[in-house]
Amino acid sequence: MSLILIHTTRFAEHQTPPGHPERPERADVLDAIAARWRDRGTEVVAPREASREQLVRVHDADYVRRISETRGRATALDPDTYTSPESYDIALLAAGACVDGVERVMSNAHRAAFALVRPPGHHAERARPMGFCLFNNVAVAAAHARTMGARKVAIVDFDVHHGNGTQHLFETDPHVLYISIHQYPYYPGTGAAEEIGRDAGRGFTVNLPLEVGAVDEDYQIVFSRMVSPVLREFEPDLLIISAGYDAHERDPLGGMRLTTAAFGAMTRELRAVADDCCRGRIVAALEGGYDLHALGTSLDASIDALAGPHQAAEWPSSGIRSSRGEATVEATSASIRPFWRV
Ligand SMILES: [Zn+2]
Repeated sequence: MSLILIHTTRFAEHQTPPGHPERPERADVLDAIAARWRDRGTEVVAPREASREQLVRVHDADYVRRISETRGRATALDPDTYTSPESYDIALLAAGACVDGVERVMSNAHRAAFALVRPPGHHAERARPMGFCLFNNVAVAAAHARTMGARKVAIVDFDVHHGNGTQHLFETDPHVLYISIHQYPYYPGTGAAEEIGRDAGRGFTVNLPLEVGAVDEDYQIVFSRMVSPVLREFEPDLLIISAGYDAHERDPLGGMRLTTAAFGAMTRELRAVADDCCRGRIVAALEGGYDLHALGTSLDASIDALAGPHQAAEWPSSGIRSSRGEATVEATSASIRPFWRV
């Protein structure tokens, strides 16, 4: 019962045009991390491809067919999202890695799993690729967990961008809680505090939009006053993390100022909740993170938080004064107060 990493060197085979931030060199960072943790005794396994049946739980069958038709071709699906000849197969491996993580954790073979994948997934909609994403990896994972007996699944997304795809796929579903902490206003434009889910899913979408420039202390406030309390009240059977590292201060896309240590602290906070609510069951999946050095060190901090015995989160102190976290807590609690004790 420990952490397992799910990884293959094949993630480099998904090629994007020169200058694209979601570049194959990101896979080299993943290779180095997987090798280092394997040397330290952590189990690392290669993923299987996600099946069509697993994908169509969250994507339209026509959409899956459309992406499959990019096999063997380089295409531009939108101004941000590209395929190379291998991309379809690699996207199947990325989604499959998350499914694999769910199977290992839900069967109690492992306490936690981290899928070190690309392409990322959280912008992918039911029938539309978007923002570098082809298949919504964490959504496929959450839907799979539901078939394996998880009554309630929580997804926490700390990528700097709002996970529009994940939100939309579960916005009417009270069994899947989606919590996102993101820069706002920013790409993709969704993720306002007022977006709280629809119909039976009202209250089960929690958006924590932070103004550009947020620091470690802002995230600490948002985690301690909103993320952890809502998760504890929801009591998930499985916690899935959309782990993006583009809120790091070095990231070329994001405008936040998080330090590497903050990613470790966020992950430890989430582990504490999972330890209390669901026997530590966590499946994390890589989303963004475009500064290669920051990606490597921050991912390492997260993996360290999930490996070995639990230690309480130690938030770094940036010493920068900011009221962004307080403002976010205020805005979001006004929207979700009818549903949660926050
Ligand atoms: Zn992102």
